[in-house]
Amino acid sequence: MVNILEFYEKFYNIDKTVIENSQLALTELSGVFKDIDTRAEIGQMKVLKAMQENGLSDIHFNYTTGYGYSDDGRDILEKIYKDVYNTENALVRPQIISGTHALTVALAANLKYGDELISISGTPYDTLQGVIGIRPTRNSLMENGVTYDECSLTSDYKFDFDAIKKVVKPTTKMVAIQRSKGYDWRNSLTVSEIGEAIKCVKEINKDIIIMVDNCYGEFVETIEPTDVGADLCVGSLIKNAGGGLSPIGGYIVGKYDLVENCADRLSAPGLGKKVGATLGVSKTFLQGLFFAPTVTASALKTAIFTAKMFEKLGFEVSPKSTDVRTDIVQAIKFKDREKLIAFCQGIQLGAPVDSFVTPEPWDMPGYDNEVIMAAGAFIQGSSIELSADAPIKEPYIAYMQGGLTFEHGKIGVILAINNMVEKGLIKF
Ligand SMILES: *Cc1c(COP(=O)(O)O)cnc(C)c1O
Repeated sequence: MVNILEFYEKFYNIDKTVIENSQLALTELSGVFKDIDTRAEIGQMKVLKAMQENGLSDIHFNYTTGYGYSDDGRDILEKIYKDVYNTENALVRPQIISGTHALTVALAANLKYGDELISISGTPYDTLQGVIGIRPTRNSLMENGVTYDECSLTSDYKFDFDAIKKVVKPTTKMVAIQRSKGYDWRNSLTVSEIGEAIKCVKEINKDIIIMVDNCYGEFVETIEPTDVGADLCVGSLIKNAGGGLSPIGGYIVGKYDLVENCADRLSAPGLGKKVGATLGVSKTFLQGLFFAPTVTASALKTAIFTAKMFEKLGFEVSPKSTDVRTDIVQAIKFKDREKLIAFCQGIQLGAPVDSFVTPEPWDMPGYDNEVIMAAGAFIQGSSIELSADAPIKEPYIAYMQGGLTFEHGKIGVILAINNMVEKGLIKF
């Protein structure tokens, strides 16, 4: 047997207690990791089957320019997404800039003047607040005549069914659900919990459109929100679904007409899905989707390993290492400014790209507090790659996610912890 200890000492001079505890953590997590591997295999089957049934072939790795008429690669990619999500239609494009853009398209395409939108998972993700108009911006949904209301989650972070029945009306046009905690200290919502909430809303009026922000959730469970009745499901390709390979992009899947509306909003009314050159990225999108289940599994293992290590060190983490997971985000409550910064700087030390820079807190536009961000990614801003962000405010919580391979995720987290140990901030 190879002795990993020697190599951590040789390459990185890691403190012995850190490596010993990491090996112990791995032994304790072996059952959980086995289950993650099984889920990845199921995800792989879903993706493989969809590629086979749609007859994916070499000819689909074409390169289109200009208007992008008859782009067979783009069209088959969308058919494959539709099947993986077990739904009717898909829009998967490099013209979708980000998760926020995909969500904006899904919302703006399906909400008109006078329509009501209700979030039933509390206040949405930061950038969405601007899109909706909760935080006033130019051209927000609210500025365009959409009304908005929200139901908070209960104190134990579950859907509040009583509140939903009060706030959602038969005339409500759309209900939005955010699966992942994003940058909030709450539980993420499992697909089965989302299914229950959808049932509750559909009892008020079956025509209310349910849109799920699926960012960070793809392939963590064996089913997706569209399997439990979501009409629209939306995400970013520089998170889970892109498998770490997609250089840009977003996806919207769901009911046929609703996705057609999105296509008309993204391109132009009447043009819809028929235009949009892919400039050669279709193959990368497809290959990324092919890798997505196992890459997501690596990120998930990295998150759980991190939770376990910080539990050993006496910190509060969310989710706990033993909790059921539905996304790849791991929050760690440091309750100390210096520890938080040392952790984020340590994550940067473990990056394959820009490992030599030291991230510092800065006043990022759109945020109330200073923010520190550790990211040394091949794709700029990609958070399926190992990354950590934190607003510099009490109680000093870091949100960490990603890890293209578990081997890298583990090394990165060990470096981060070692950085804190070396500075005398923590001790096993
Ligand atoms: C990342 C994220 C978004 C927005 O994605 P961007 O690609 O950063 O615009 C929206 N919602 C949630 C829950 C996210 O995690």
